[in-house]
Amino acid sequence: MSFALHGLAVSPGITVGQAHLVSSARLEVARYEVPEEALEAEVARFEAALGRVREELAALAAHVPPEAPPELAAFVNLHRLILDDPSLAQTPKALIRERRANAEWALVLQMEKLARRFEEIEDPYLRERRADIEQVVERVLKALAGGRSLPEPPASLEQNMIVVAHDLSPADMLLFKRHRFGGFVTDVGGVTSHTAIVARSLGIPAIVGLHHARDMIREGDTLIVDGLAGVVLVDPDPLLLGEYRLRQSGYALEREKLKRLRAAPTATLDGTPVELYANIEVPQDVAEAREVGAQGVGLFRTEFLFMNRRDLPSEEEQFEAYREVLAGMDGRPVVIRTLDIGADKAVSPDGAVEPGAAAPNPALGLRAIRYCLAEPQVFVTQLRAILRASAYGRARILLPMLAHAHEIEQALALLARAKQQLERDGVAFDRAIPVGGMIEVPAAALALPMFLRRLDFVSLGTNDLIQYTLAIDRTDDAVAHLYDPLHPAVLALVANVIRSANRARVPVAVCGEMAGEPELTRLLLGFGLRNFSMHPAQLLAVKERVLKTDLAQARPLAQRILRQSDPARARELLAKLNA
Ligand code: PEP
Ligand code: MG
Repeated sequence: MSFALHGLAVSPGITVGQAHLVSSARLEVARYEVPEEALEAEVARFEAALGRVREELAALAAHVPPEAPPELAAFVNLHRLILDDPSLAQTPKALIRERRANAEWALVLQMEKLARRFEEIEDPYLRERRADIEQVVERVLKALAGGRSLPEPPASLEQNMIVVAHDLSPADMLLFKRHRFGGFVTDVGGVTSHTAIVARSLGIPAIVGLHHARDMIREGDTLIVDGLAGVVLVDPDPLLLGEYRLRQSGYALEREKLKRLRAAPTATLDGTPVELYANIEVPQDVAEAREVGAQGVGLFRTEFLFMNRRDLPSEEEQFEAYREVLAGMDGRPVVIRTLDIGADKAVSPDGAVEPGAAAPNPALGLRAIRYCLAEPQVFVTQLRAILRASAYGRARILLPMLAHAHEIEQALALLARAKQQLERDGVAFDRAIPVGGMIEVPAAALALPMFLRRLDFVSLGTNDLIQYTLAIDRTDDAVAHLYDPLHPAVLALVANVIRSANRARVPVAVCGEMAGEPELTRLLLGFGLRNFSMHPAQLLAVKERVLKTDLAQARPLAQRILRQSDPARARELLAKLNA
């Protein structure tokens, strides 16, 4: 039966392929149909796996070493209780029979249901028991796989696969950089959530906020993902399929044509130069930045180096990563942002470093610079690594989430300490390394002179600026319709920061998602912006817009949009600006 699901388009393009259901990168399982006559054997296979895990846990409990902390025995016993709870031991059996599905799928489906209930619990201790359930389920999955690790789809098939998930964390998404899937769709998430940002960096169509995709789509279903309109068509008829294949090749042709712009100098019609930089998450992204002709890296989100691992990356490891990026950019500027963890970017799935994970409101908690100043050891290690790498190219340091002048002062004092240490040891570094700050908290945008006086450059993080100005959680699809870059309050802050920084002759860039949105290119140019940083996948489309912009026309129209109190009228004027 064919049907359509509507969500939020986060990465453009059209793809046609087969659904591949995943729960998270760690618990990736496929669904397949079990014939009626094999259902009882499937239930028996599930029971056998439960039995094996029961034995494993019993053996563990019997061999707790005497010197082990008392919590260990309690922990193993808790896992035994979870394993025997009817919700995990019985309900999947009913699901296998009713849905004619394999045991792995039934178990993970049930686990996700339980996990959602845990998310609603207020008590932080109880809420964290969700991780225990996941660990028990992982053990059962392993037993079902006969102790082997879970099979990954063969690489040759990946391009035709569309990943369907309830939710993916930014860390899960990062793991997908190793793959070449055809597209992504998820039930939850906002357009500027970090999961969406990483999906966009993969350059493949993606849709979030579909609500019921994971429940309604079956493994292997044929899907059309229209990443331009935010629509997923499930099991489409051949006519529709033909129509979309045509659109898909049309889109691919357009992208191909854009490649011709790679080497062209970036300037508006009157010759005003504009700089287009790339946002990257990991050193491997440099290749793509170079491929589209980025003039520099405007935002290296270093926190991604800290994900999917139990320990912190050492100074040496960080140094190598920063040096690789600087060398790869071959003398072009590279803005290295210091650690911005917290909020939706929890660092370790195993809980090694998860600042703010248990905080009442992580987005307003110990995030980014606040975390770094509370953990000076972690911060200084990173600063030393950046400084050492600065001997190999044009590095710049960018401090995230600034709201107070004293945060800059403390950060600069720690930087001075790191410099002293290196000097003492005779290590080479750029003594005049520029230090900039993200303007992404409304307080910083409103009290800008305080920041301009202390910083060498500023970069507008519009993703957070919108989140904090409009009080909209950027990861929450329930309020995604209220997340509006064209809100007059947002535009007033953005335009004012650009104007004031230009007046003070402090370089200003935009590195939030607004910079990579061709529909907003002329508006930002009209506000006076000359440096845009975005994911490489968007760079050439933005460049095309810049090349066709008449600044004399854009400036007054941008000012009219800024003065508009009627949002509908502002949108009409924007359409006129883009015509
Ligand atoms: C922003 O907030 O706009 C930004 C660029 O930082 P991040 O998306 O990593 O929070
Ligand atoms: Mg931010």
